[in-house]
This record gives sequence, structure tokens and C-alpha cells, in this order.
Amino acid sequence: MQRANVCLIDNEPVMLDLLCEVVEQAGLTARGFTRASQFFEEIGESESVSIVVLDLHMPEMDGVEVMRRLAKTKNPPALILVSGHDIGVLHAAEKLGRAQNLNILASLSKPLPLDELRMLLIPYSQRATEKRDDTASATQYRPVLVELRQAIQNNQLVPHYQPQLEIATGKITGVEALVRWQHPVAGLIYPDQFISLAEQGGLIGELTYWMIRNVAAQLQIWQSAGFSLVVSVNISAMDITTLTLPEQLGQLLKNNKLDPTLLTLEVTESALMGELVTSLDILTRLRLKGFGLSIDDFGTGYSSLLQLHRVPFSELKIDRCFVASMTTDAEARSIVKTCIVLGHELGMKVIAEGVETEAQLQELRQLGCDKAQGYFLSRPVPERDLIAWLKART
Ligand code: C2E
Ligand code: MG
Ligand code: MG
Repeated sequence: MQRANVCLIDNEPVMLDLLCEVVEQAGLTARGFTRASQFFEEIGESESVSIVVLDLHMPEMDGVEVMRRLAKTKNPPALILVSGHDIGVLHAAEKLGRAQNLNILASLSKPLPLDELRMLLIPYSQRATEKRDDTASATQYRPVLVELRQAIQNNQLVPHYQPQLEIATGKITGVEALVRWQHPVAGLIYPDQFISLAEQGGLIGELTYWMIRNVAAQLQIWQSAGFSLVVSVNISAMDITTLTLPEQLGQLLKNNKLDPTLLTLEVTESALMGELVTSLDILTRLRLKGFGLSIDDFGTGYSSLLQLHRVPFSELKIDRCFVASMTTDAEARSIVKTCIVLGHELGMKVIAEGVETEAQLQELRQLGCDKAQGYFLSRPVPERDLIAWLKART
């Protein structure tokens, strides 16, 4: 059978021809279907389909039904959703797809922005081959617990630092420390490959303490070199079950002659889903001791408002999924705007993560966001590169 990279399902034949042309211009193979049932009959679960461009409104089997059927297959293709109806329907379908663990690449309203579609497909086809290479080196490497334990003990972990910009002054006032594992054989391993292993294997407390100990030593060096930076460190749900955490961290900073205000702890909303009384106790005492407290990936968890009401956060960090689309999607922009107002009303500083373009930064400035972090400024880098970068900026 001929390889079909992209399948298009749309009941309008003219639209289908146009879409096929765009797909082929992007260097991929296209196959069009005017009925979803025909797609399932002819293609079914074939793994040669990597993307399906799907019109949500079709007379016989609509897009939501198609998604439901695809979600049940072993290797569902990635999806681009298309709709001529209001944007709310499109976004609801997008969320529904994600809830079914489908990979939704984009949702586009009609009349279709054909250039946008083409641009969307070009990198995807390149990435498809790149990804396989990545997989060979890093993704396929599955570390085991003993190895991770040794890595912590043998200092194979390395904090990378990503700068945070104070938008109004243009100054870099802080960095987020993100852990990496310099593995002797597999190379640099990213946190998504070992944080949950550490959590499940009861090693996360050790890992968090390792990070904070290293960050504190680094802060001391920066202070004496005249760089005044605040550092944010991510902590896990399990870290906020140990009642002595505030005392431990307080002591650690005292030993390094550092003020706790120099350290911000980032907690995700989902981390607060556990034993609430204990986590509230710990987080409140961390704030009392002067540590900063940031609610990370804000807007993606559950009962956000309740958490904000109960926990004395000093910072709200807007999740990058809203920032990524805020210049192209009016709803995402409204969410960002509302988060900024909400954060300020509650006396918090607001930071946007995942800022990748100048346009996003401009818009955040207009909306009164306090800080920005993302690839537009710098990727997370090792300490040496951070210092070189900071020096080059001044
Ligand atoms: P996070 O705390 O939300 O960190 C932000 C993630 O977004 C980082 O991924 C960062 O590299 C990435 N990022 C930054 N700017 C951009 C951008 O402009 N565009 C895009 N697409 N991505 C950007 P990373 O380093 O892979 O970390 C992933 C997650 O792993 C972190 O999400 C955090 O939840 C967790 N993590 C990282 N370090 C630690 C740690 O020391 N302890 C714990 N418990 N978790 C950690
Ligand atoms: Mg974070
Ligand atoms: Mg985040």
C-alpha cells in the first residue's frame, strides 16, 4: 500500500483538493476522504498515517465521533482540527481530544489559514525523523532506581539555569534551576525521564535536597561575584509531606549565610491535591520564614482558585500553553490577562513561562505582567554559560 502520511477528512470536495495541495507543498503525502467511514474502512489503524486533518462538522460521522474512535486505536495519529463554527466549539473539541490522550497539533478555524497549516506541517515532518534519532539516544534510555540513587550520590546531576526577566526594567532578576542528569553513557537526560522515577522510588526528597544544596552554594558564589539573583527551584508533591522541610531549608540557607528571600519554591497545583492540612502547614511556614512560593503551570491543574485562596503564594506562574498561543488566540490572551489581574489582586507577582517570541513579550508588557521566562530570552543553560550570557548583556 502507498504510504499515506497525512489523511484529510472533509465533506467538501473542493476544500479537500485544496488541503491535499497544501499538504503536498509541505513535502508530505496526502490522501483525502469526504466521509469518515470511508477513512476507517480504507485506513483503519494503519500506522503509516502520522497526521489526520479533521473537519469537525460532517453530516454522517462528525469529528468528535472520529476522535473517539481514533482514541481507541493502538497508535492514534496526531490531529489537526478544523471548524467553520465558532471558536468555542473548536476549543472544546481540542480539550476533549487531549482528555482522550490524543495528540492535537492545532485547531484551525475556517476560512483556513493555509500558510499557517503549511508552516505547521513542515517542521512536523522534519521532526518525525529527528524524533527517531532522539529516541535512540535519550528517550529510549530508561534509568533504573539504583542508578539514579548513585547519580545523586556521585553528583551526576547538574542544575541548568534559565533567566527570568523583569519586564518593566529589562533586568534579569532571577533564574529557574532545572535539573539535568549528565549520564556517563546516555548523555544529558532531562527531568521528564527521571523525576517520576525518583518520586515513585522514594528518592525525590534526596533529589530536591541535592538541588537546593547546590543552588545555595551557587547563590553564595553569585552573591560574592556581585550578581544579585533570586533562584526558583521546583519541588514535588512528596516534598510537601515532610513537616520538617521549612526548618531543614531554613538551616541550609543559614549555613550558607543566605537570606531565604533569595530562594523561591515552585509547586504545581496538582502537588496540592494530597493531604491538604500538612501541605498548608509546610507552605505557610516556608512563607513565614521568608522563602518565595510560586504556583507553577498555573491554569492547568484543578481547583486553582481554591489553592490561591488557601496557600500564601508570592508568585503566580502562567503556564506556557496559554503564553504560546496568546498572540494568535483571543481566548488564550484573555486567560493570560485574567491571570495577571488575578495575581495582582491577590498581591502576587506574575511571571509568564514559555515566552518564545518578541510579540509575546510585547503583549505581556502591555498586559502588565511582571516577569517573563522562555526561549526568547534564553534556554536553560549550565552555570558557566549563564554567567557569560549575563555579562554579555551588560
Ligand atoms: P517547569 O518547572 O514548568 O519548567 C519549565 C520547563 O519548560 C522546562 O523544561 C524548560 O526547559 C521548559 N521551557 C522553558 N522555556 C521554554 C520555552 O520558551 N518554550 C518551551 N516549549 N519550553 C520551555 P524541563 O527543564 O525539561 O523541565 C520539565 C519539568 O520537570 C519542569 O517543568 C518541572 O516540573 C520538572 N523539574 C525540573 N527540574 C526539577 C527539579 O529539580 N525537581 C523537581 N521536582 N522537578 C523538576
Ligand atoms: Mg517550574
Ligand atoms: Mg512550569
